Order: sequence, then structure tokens, then C-alpha cells
Amino acid sequence: MRFEPSEFVKSAGAKSGFLRDDRPCVVFSGKSNVGKSSVINCVLGRKNLARVGSTPGKTTNVNYFLVGNAVWFVDLPGYGYARVPHAERERWGKLMEDFFAEPERITFGVQIVDGRHKPTELDGVMNELFASCGCPRVVVANKWDKLKKSEMEPNLALIRETLALPEEIPLLPFSAEKRTGKQELRDIISEAVSL
Ligand code: GDP
Repeated sequence: MRFEPSEFVKSAGAKSGFLRDDRPCVVFSGKSNVGKSSVINCVLGRKNLARVGSTPGKTTNVNYFLVGNAVWFVDLPGYGYARVPHAERERWGKLMEDFFAEPERITFGVQIVDGRHKPTELDGVMNELFASCGCPRVVVANKWDKLKKSEMEPNLALIRETLALPEEIPLLPFSAEKRTGKQELRDIISEAVSL
């Protein structure tokens, strides 16, 4: 698969705005501030396509990027930011419900968690959504550069256990900052979309 060129195409705040065409959809999710934008930028070799460090939780939208003119990268809104108003949280829930109501449109899921910590309750909810739609997926443990060597194996085990990941779901240590895992994630995505 080609990762260039990549462009932002549109942002959808409700299901009427979801894109539907024949191209495969690679869907990225993760809690606010986990580094989702940084991971997307890293994989695409872009500095600032997906927005990094914008006010957490402010954008409850599904964002679509077209990659290599052939594949959609779908950026789901970040979740779990404490200071988000209740109404906005409800909107997130409804948007996710609508999005996952058409699971056949999800070719591949990229769930990003914080490699330093036990996955949160909402990470668990998101994991369940991906699992229930039956699509293949990868779990990316970001911010891996922040771990001590002695923490690596135990953290991988903790993430795998907390999310009850079946063996066939890869769990990939990643650092958007150091670009650790970039090629592996590209390979995993390429294989998943068969391009
Ligand atoms: P998003 O809210 O999930 O899209 O997160 P961002 O991509 O905006 O990143 C949130 C913060 O985490 C920013 O300050 C990034 O520089 C930082 N960050 C992202 N990825 C990494 C990483 O792999 N390692 C480290 N140390 N920091 C990271």
C-alpha cells in the first residue's frame, strides 16, 4: 500500500456525514491525549495532518483522510477527557453507536492505548465495540519511549489481560515520538487492506 499522498477530506459530526464508498476503511481510536494524532501523522510520514495537541476532547467528530488515493484513514473522536460536558459525552456515545452500527464498513481497527498504564474503562468499551464488529485489528501501545526496560513485558501482559485480547490480535509497542513500530504498523495495515 502507498502511504502518500494523504489528505484530509472531511469531518462528520453525525451519521449522515459518514463516508460510504468501496475503499477500505482503517479506523483509529484512542482516548484523548494518548497520541492518536501523532500515531496517524507518524504512519503517514506527515508532521501535522491529523491535529496534535489541540484542546483535548473538543472535537467530537469523525475525521476522514484519504491515503494513497485508495484507503480511508478514519480518525474517531478521542474519549475519556474528564472536563468534557455531559452533553458532549452523550454525543460521543451516540456517534460511536451509529458508527459501529455498520461494522461491514470497518476493514481494520487500530486501537491506541497508553503503553504506560492499564487500559481505562472506556478503552475496554472501545475494545468491545471493535471485537463485536468482528473486524481484524491491532492494539497499539503508544508512548513506549517512556517505559523503563523492566516495565515493558509486564505492561504488555497487563494490556493484553485487561482487554482480554485473543492471541491473534497483535499488540504493538509504539512510539510516535521516536517512530518505534512505524514500519511494523505500516506492514500490518498494508496486509489488512490487501494493497
Ligand atoms: P491525541 O489527543 O490522542 O490526538 O494526542 P496527540 O497526538 O495530540 O498527543 C498528545 C501529547 O502526547 C502531545 O504532547 C504529544 O507530543 C505526546 N505524544 C504523542 N505520542 C507520543 C509518544 O510516542 N511518546 C511521547 N513521549 N509523547 C507522545
